[in-house]
Amino acid sequence: MSIARSEYTYCAPTIPTKLRIVREGDPVRRAAPGELPAVVGAGLRVPTLTGEVEYANLDHAASTPSLVSVKAAVDTALETYSSVHRGNGYASRVTSAWYEQARVEVAQFVGAREDDLVVFTRNTTDATNLLARTLPRGTEVFVFETEHHATLLPWQQARGVQVTTLPVPSSIEHALEDLETALAASGAKHRLVVVAGASNVTGELWPLADVVAVAQRHQARVLVDAAQLAPHRVIDIATSGIDYVVFSGHKLYAPYGAGVLAGRRDWLDAGAPYLRGGGATASVTTDGVAWATGAARHEGGSPNVIGAIAIAAACAAISSHREAIEAHEADLAERLRAGLDVIPGVDTWSIFGDDHDRVAVLAFTIERFDSSLVSAILSAEYGIGVRDGKFCAHILVDELLEDPWGDTPATAVRVSLGLANTAEHVDRLVAAVAELAANGPSRRYTRTDEGWVADGDERDLALPLPW
Ligand code: PMP
Repeated sequence: MSIARSEYTYCAPTIPTKLRIVREGDPVRRAAPGELPAVVGAGLRVPTLTGEVEYANLDHAASTPSLVSVKAAVDTALETYSSVHRGNGYASRVTSAWYEQARVEVAQFVGAREDDLVVFTRNTTDATNLLARTLPRGTEVFVFETEHHATLLPWQQARGVQVTTLPVPSSIEHALEDLETALAASGAKHRLVVVAGASNVTGELWPLADVVAVAQRHQARVLVDAAQLAPHRVIDIATSGIDYVVFSGHKLYAPYGAGVLAGRRDWLDAGAPYLRGGGATASVTTDGVAWATGAARHEGGSPNVIGAIAIAAACAAISSHREAIEAHEADLAERLRAGLDVIPGVDTWSIFGDDHDRVAVLAFTIERFDSSLVSAILSAEYGIGVRDGKFCAHILVDELLEDPWGDTPATAVRVSLGLANTAEHVDRLVAAVAELAANGPSRRYTRTDEGWVADGDERDLALPLPW
């Protein structure tokens, strides 16, 4: 059950009643229900080898553009921008209140329990590392090899923590069986299961309710890496029994620099402060330091207030337009899959099978083409931005692709869709892939230290600096 705004309390400084959030004329709620929230930079024109086209940004899984309403919220916040938590001036109090209200917005967005913490971090990687450092000694972490490195690697450095990695499963049933077996064999005092909400390679959704059920049978907690889930689907940690969730603002239509760790308070309150310094302390005397509890314990130094406000604005906008966003993405994803499925020589990749439910993220290869050449051609000839490689999930990609043609690297091209996309972007990508698979590139490309470069590519990347 999610927590009503007024019921939500935190250890961090209380929000003066008079400064509580005012919704009237709120810029983040601008798009009417049913409408899609607008993104900054829509309609951007980019050069190709032969002219100029509207940029088709098919790389949302890496980073999304900001929402117009997020930019408006940031602009508004900059008008009253002042010191946070340390000033009694009016503007400082407003800024501090907004920072704390940003936690409330995020708490609502993830359906937090009343006593959960929302800690602002730098990104998802920072959030998992933070949790790793606060795990009680004697914790065993169970993590699938399908995971992004941000959730696969942090546990290995954590003191007193044992890590059990589970192989890339061939089906959901196998995944759950492997997890059950590993948990049943564990004699650890504390257990944590780590799983992605949605794969950043294939977009496939993990069956979180089933994972939680297995974990709870063995007194294990569950951390969901929601970096790829949060922008696309509802997260409700209280109802679903998830213990922790992490995600990044820059994949959720807010700018770089801020992320979230939300979840149970006890381990976070007992663990060592993540950054030792001002803001994380309750008192400091010559006799020693009493560290704060609550979110402040792990937010040493001056926090990224603007980043937190940007995330809150994004959460508010996404929640308000959830249905329209999901419908838009489902339409585009179907169009993409239908288009790629019929092109000879093109393979799309899945962990659990082609029909498995997924967000609008898809990895594909073109037979005998180096994926980095494909993405270079898509950019140079079609004005399309995609990601190629192993997507910081090396073990998964190696396992899925297993050197399919012997002479090309085991890498894929990833298309990830979102609010910056139109049907024309998808159609352009499909047409480009069909042309490439049938006839190859229109120019000669040479591999250089900076990647593949087309003969005669004179596109100028030296735009005037923005400052
Ligand atoms: N987890 C997943 C599933 C991701 O897709 C990413 C980013 N590609 C991360 C974690 C890491 O996010 P960040 O780089 O913002 O820390």
